[in-house]
Amino acid sequence: MSNYIIETKEITKYYDDFRAVNGVNLKVPKNSAYGILGPNGAGKSTLISMLCTIFSPTKGTAIVNGYDIVKESHNVRKSVGIVFQNRALDDVLTGREHLEMHAALYGVKKDVRQDRIDDILELIDLGDKIDEKVKNYSGGMKRKLEIGRGLIHHPKVLFLDEPTLGLDVPTRENIWSYIKNLRNNIDITILLTTHYLEEADSLCDEIAIIDHGEIVKTGSPSNLKDGLKIDTIILKSLKNNQLKDILQNQSFVNELNYDGSEIRLSVDKGAKLIPEIVHIAEINDITIESMELKQPSLEEVFIKYTGYKIDR
Ligand code: ADP
Repeated sequence: MSNYIIETKEITKYYDDFRAVNGVNLKVPKNSAYGILGPNGAGKSTLISMLCTIFSPTKGTAIVNGYDIVKESHNVRKSVGIVFQNRALDDVLTGREHLEMHAALYGVKKDVRQDRIDDILELIDLGDKIDEKVKNYSGGMKRKLEIGRGLIHHPKVLFLDEPTLGLDVPTRENIWSYIKNLRNNIDITILLTTHYLEEADSLCDEIAIIDHGEIVKTGSPSNLKDGLKIDTIILKSLKNNQLKDILQNQSFVNELNYDGSEIRLSVDKGAKLIPEIVHIAEINDITIESMELKQPSLEEVFIKYTGYKIDR
């Protein structure tokens, strides 16, 4: 069995003659949290809609949990849980009723249904609210219920389309820790789409940056950031002028700026250079007062590979 739970093969989708997804080859490792990051209209929803068999590809295919999405769509559907924006909850049902309905719909046998629901209740932690009608739920509670519902038939892959869209920052962070908790505690791969850079950075082991229907770069958030080679080291010492002159001549310094109070160095891999800089200061009898390392953000990675900001 492959180490990848999802493998796409030149998957392509046209809407009439508009190409929304173009020859995408993606490999998603088992039990990872994998993010498809891109601006609105990049083709994220179209891509995952094909992977969970809502749409069929125009060309190419994908293997999900060992099954071909075109030829074995029934088995794919049993392997996946889907949490999409448009799968609305019913306001007049309680949270528990939603879980019960979904369990029946997905053919979870009656004798295990109650245990499954109890497990999900523990995960989603909605307390007594679970027996209240959904119309009384906050946005964050609804999202948790939707995610819990998507898990009830024990899918191997959970698809989350923009899981925190429209939620405020504290609720968003709450959902992130909930998703991390899932990933750490159950045997599942999470594939999520997002246009929030912090979301991709905080949640995902690996990301694929998608633009105009094509993957432009893949990697872990930290590898992508390291790959930019634009760390900044900010230094202060009691002898700034002298330190500046010494550092100016070091081959690892790409650029040095001094504003009269702080020395800013642009370097490739800052973390590795810190001991060396401390050593250089010491042998020159200079005491460093403060030193800070700033790594680039995922935003800079995004700009580098697409040429523009994600929220253009
Ligand atoms: P994302 O999820 O990244 O915002 P989508 O996959 O929703 O992107 O859309 C990709 C492109 O395909 C967009 O330009 C969108 O307008 C277009 N599109 C999406 N769904 C349809 C559809 N049903 N018919 C025609 N065009 C569509």
